[in-house]
Amino acid sequence: MQVTIPILKEMFKECNKTYFENKLKMCNFSLYSSTTEKGRFTTGRIWINKRLNWTEETLKGVLIHEMVHYYVDNIIGEYNFLFPHGYKFIKVCSNIKKKYGYEVPMSDTIYRYSILKQKESLTITERLEILCLGPINYLLSWIF
Ligand SMILES: [Zn+2]
Repeated sequence: MQVTIPILKEMFKECNKTYFENKLKMCNFSLYSSTTEKGRFTTGRIWINKRLNWTEETLKGVLIHEMVHYYVDNIIGEYNFLFPHGYKFIKVCSNIKKKYGYEVPMSDTIYRYSILKQKESLTITERLEILCLGPINYLLSWIF
């Protein structure tokens, strides 16, 4: 499905009501092209990769992910630009999971891990990368 700004606004309203107690003010949206990201958040603005072949479910996942960034920035007021998926981000996600049973996708990047997994032959560095990526991300998220 082709993503459009009106679709995003509609979905934002729904998700705001369902998962964020309508606490979020409508933000700005931009569509962009990226080979490494599904979406991104900058203050007051959610960016969605228009090149991806979205389904309603995958789009909703990334939108809610970006809305959690927005929530951390706007409602909690302490956005960590260096480690945006750190402790506060995880806390909001686990509250959503507890209250509404929805699992917010933890990443808005196109997984390097899954790209590597699909390759037929891997260099030594790429093998090391696969081994290290998971634990490093996990550790960083608890430290910051
Ligand atoms: Zn993110």
